[in-house]
Amino acid sequence: MGSHSSSDKVTNTGRRHIIGALGASILAGGASQAVAQSLGFPAPPAGLGKRPYPNLLRPLSDKKRKFGYAIVGLGKYAVNQILPAFAECEHARLAALVSGDIEKARRLGNHYGIEESHLYTYDNFDKIAQDPDVDAVYIILPNSLHADFTIRSFRAGKHVMCEKPMALNAEECQRMIDAGKKAGKELMIGYRCHFDPITHKAVALARSGVIGTPQIITTDNGDNTDPTDPTYQWRLTRSLSGGGALMDLGIYGINGSRYMLNEDPVEVQATIMPPTDPMFRQIDETIVWIMRYRSGAVAHGSASFNVNAMSRFNLQGTKGSMRMDPATSYWCNTVSLCKTGDTQTWSTPMFTINELNQFSAQLDHLPISIANGTRVAATGEEGMQDVRLIQAIYKAAHSGRPVSTDWGDWRKTI
Ligand code: NAD
Repeated sequence: MGSHSSSDKVTNTGRRHIIGALGASILAGGASQAVAQSLGFPAPPAGLGKRPYPNLLRPLSDKKRKFGYAIVGLGKYAVNQILPAFAECEHARLAALVSGDIEKARRLGNHYGIEESHLYTYDNFDKIAQDPDVDAVYIILPNSLHADFTIRSFRAGKHVMCEKPMALNAEECQRMIDAGKKAGKELMIGYRCHFDPITHKAVALARSGVIGTPQIITTDNGDNTDPTDPTYQWRLTRSLSGGGALMDLGIYGINGSRYMLNEDPVEVQATIMPPTDPMFRQIDETIVWIMRYRSGAVAHGSASFNVNAMSRFNLQGTKGSMRMDPATSYWCNTVSLCKTGDTQTWSTPMFTINELNQFSAQLDHLPISIANGTRVAATGEEGMQDVRLIQAIYKAAHSGRPVSTDWGDWRKTI
């Protein structure tokens, strides 16, 4: 599910053939800056274009013992994206599996070499406290179960990686943050795009001044829904999902806008379109929103559960624009710079899984941060800010009025 699902069809072999020397130089910033300058953009300040998280560049000195994750919830995302990603991790390894279906856990355990003693059900999950191989629990369950399993994991003395959206509401998020602090353990939210090299490139460009002052952001995320597939069923049920297209897909646009601008919106407005199919009666099928920033920038976004896959991000500045399409794919994001009046003249090539696997980088980031004593890239407070904004957007849509989100700087609370 997600605006990224279309890219699942790209085969491994296909991806491995796409990268070339140009990709490597673009990651390093060389070719991209040369092309940008030939279009009349000024050179970005030195140092930009590198990964924004310096601790990602500092490898752990002790490579003997890899950091063990227990994966909770063996659904589509866990099985298709996260479990295979351990093969490319430098610091993390799969240590345990947790599922409601013990036969499924056994099958996957056989495949990944996980012994029966490291297989758990949701009912006996708390026994994981006695499993010394498990350092962290990665929660990949329906949204309504994130808070409960995060708090149980902290009680078991483990660190936590929790999927987005962090929880159903800000109160649940706060309880998760408090439980982590009480346990003295890290909480990280699974914002994989923060580990995507193309996204890093885009953030560096956005903040470099190369397109002038950012003025208008447009984000669109959507996908079709198959009500016969279990992965969509809980998403259509409000008590399990907390909301529809906004919770599941719009969150990429919300987080992405804040990430690009390095700023939080102070007011939101929104409209939820009437459902076109009864299957969407409990949740937002299609929603559009506006987020106003103090800097003067405005972000308008849409999310839908009833469109052909879309995943777009456009940042329009006073001197040019930056486009990502797709913006949140698993493997093949692109970024390009454009000048007013020009057609698209420059874009990055696809990156192969060998160059930097965003899932493996995300899994490695938690142990590296813990070992280095540095803050994780996506904290619980970051995840909570998105959930608060989602709640404000729903409130604005239901009231038909703008809603203030001028809550002060959440970064000062951590
Ligand atoms: P999924 O439906 O494919 O998997 C969910 C798993 O939870 C299944 O194994 C299911 O059996 C289990 N489960 C346990 N209790 C359940 C219950 N009461 N109802 C339904 N299922 C129950 O879903 P998914 O696509 O893997 O999504 C799981 C989480 O991962 C969600 O929070 C989603 O937002 C997130 N996700 C993130 C990304 C990303 O790119 N970061 C992508 C997809 C999903």
